[in-house]
Amino acid sequence: MSSEQHQCAYGCETQLVEQERTFKNGTKHIEKRCPTCGRGHGYAPKNINPLEFIMPFGKHIGLPLGEIAKRDRPYLEWARANFKRANIVSRINAVLAGQQ
Ligand SMILES: [Zn+2]
Repeated sequence: MSSEQHQCAYGCETQLVEQERTFKNGTKHIEKRCPTCGRGHGYAPKNINPLEFIMPFGKHIGLPLGEIAKRDRPYLEWARANFKRANIVSRINAVLAGQQ
């Protein structure tokens, strides 16, 4: 199963290529694309240091988590309890745990 996600979903016999993209809100993502048919296969957030993860929305949009922790730690504690997106909550957890 694990190799399927690296192959074109449209039947090409090629491996997907990964390319780093930076979105307008500053978050870095890895774009997967088939080099044969040119179809995109979605984005995955780049695996970066949680302190450098850019908040993609909300009051502190565009700031790295490490910076938000310095300026407004209560916000991160609120966000940890209220955000629904596991990929962000896990990074907030890592940042808060590292600052105890
Ligand atoms: Zn293809």
